[in-house]
Amino acid sequence: MPSGKRFVSPFDEMRHKLVDHLRSKGITDKLVLKAIDTVPRERFVPQAIRARSYEDTALPIDDRQTISQPYTVAFMTQALLPTQGMRVLEVGTGSGYQSAVLSAIGCTVVSIERLPRLSHQARTILTKFGYNVACRIGDGTIGWREGAPYDGIIVTAGAPDVPEPLARQLAIGGRMVVPVGTQSEQTLYRVTRTAEENWRVEDLGPFKFVPLIGVEGWTDEQ
Ligand code: SAH
Repeated sequence: MPSGKRFVSPFDEMRHKLVDHLRSKGITDKLVLKAIDTVPRERFVPQAIRARSYEDTALPIDDRQTISQPYTVAFMTQALLPTQGMRVLEVGTGSGYQSAVLSAIGCTVVSIERLPRLSHQARTILTKFGYNVACRIGDGTIGWREGAPYDGIIVTAGAPDVPEPLARQLAIGGRMVVPVGTQSEQTLYRVTRTAEENWRVEDLGPFKFVPLIGVEGWTDEQ
């Protein structure tokens, strides 16, 4: 190794600034901020718009889907009350960025995506960077029973209602963050399973997601 300066990418600097910005917008969870400070978002964004990776906006990925806005990822992850070793199911792998953040925190992650191409691309990047995420292809509105029960479930697409199979795959004490509403606007809910047949629902405010499509979601428009 030649001695001298370590190579610092301009993206590293942008990432630190994004973390400061998220802090100024009220994100306080140290595990979340630290994870966002380490995951290279530019690798989960299409090459042509990589320069925009650290803008606090959602960006288009393949198949008319989006990588969520960093603030949304931070807010949802914080709302999950993440801990190291927690078992988490993500519905809507998309770019793989959200699952990389969860994995960087130390969660054990299963992520389901309905579009095979996105799942394959996400898996390739996650593997390349050493994030331990089990990527599955299928309809996440019915969950992934093989991995249940989960301490956390994070739904990254907007649902018409809380999908019941997901509520039932939570462990007691487990929580799910899920956007519920119309196809264009949703309210983010945190659903905590407090007992075998009891769930507490909290309203965490308005958000916008692409639609959750599946048997317990919206019907595919095609
Ligand atoms: N978490 C992603 C956000 C992706 S957008 C990220 O960090 O980039 C939401 C994703 O949910 C899209 O890729 C969409 O194809 C997927 N999706 C929609 N309905 C789904 C379903 N029923 N099961 C699994 N994935 C679904």
